[in-house]
Amino acid sequence: MSEPRSVLITGANQGIGAAIAARFLDQGDKVSTIYHSGQAPDERVLGIVGDVTDTATVEGAFKQIEAENGPVEVLVANAGITRDQLLLRMTDAEFDSVLAVNLGGAFKCVRRASKSMLRLKRGRIVLIGSVVAMYGSPGQVNYSSSKAALVGMARSLTREIGSRGITANVVAPGFIDTAMTAALPQERQDAYKATIPAGRFAQPDEVAGVVHFLAGPDAGYVSGAVIPVDGGLGMGH
Ligand code: NDP
Repeated sequence: MSEPRSVLITGANQGIGAAIAARFLDQGDKVSTIYHSGQAPDERVLGIVGDVTDTATVEGAFKQIEAENGPVEVLVANAGITRDQLLLRMTDAEFDSVLAVNLGGAFKCVRRASKSMLRLKRGRIVLIGSVVAMYGSPGQVNYSSSKAALVGMARSLTREIGSRGITANVVAPGFIDTAMTAALPQERQDAYKATIPAGRFAQPDEVAGVVHFLAGPDAGYVSGAVIPVDGGLGMGH
């Protein structure tokens, strides 16, 4: 087994983030998370309650992580929210809050993590996007915009810091069996399943495996990519 790395996964107290945390823990890595509420997913995870939209909170969390686990070598920007609403009814607050968490939170963590990655001359940044970034989704103008922007972020990061041993990629899940999808009415869930070539939603661990690959030695030359985990829904986009 290789040396344990300091891995930060935002929003890892549940859902996809918790599955990603479990993967890295299984490989012996030191895992931390900045999350909103509740409990850290595992007693081995360094859980810091805070809001990724707040720069001071992010700074404080990184200092604590660096002191306890060492400089962050792998950042998975996973924290995300939805505030679905049809365009004409979407309020400024619904638009702004989704952009603030999904895009702004990712930016603040990436900016802070890149400091130590540049010093180390290695690092892995994985941004959790969504199939709807490229596919579109009615009622999700805010959410799909925020997720599409992560593609630009990963590609600009690749051009800016890619020569320093740092990769930046987007993993774009389709429908995953989590609280986010369980909240959909059953008939909407069935309708979505009918459009997915795989005919089912994915388990969170199926996303975690792809994230873990991108953070591992076999993906050192993969950067600026969007890797779909969507059962074929987006047909590679
Ligand atoms: P969950 O709602 O289960 O988990 C989201 C996590 O983000 C929670 O831990 C939540 O904490 C945390 N979080 C939200 N806002 C903040 C914040 N401001 N600061 C810190 N933490 C925050 O979502 P999923 O596991 O389903 O989704 C994880 C990621 O995957 C998201 O980015 C989502 O957009 C994306 N995704 C999910 C899909 C799905 O089908 N589930 C499909 C495509 C993409 P708390 O609960 O305490 O607020």
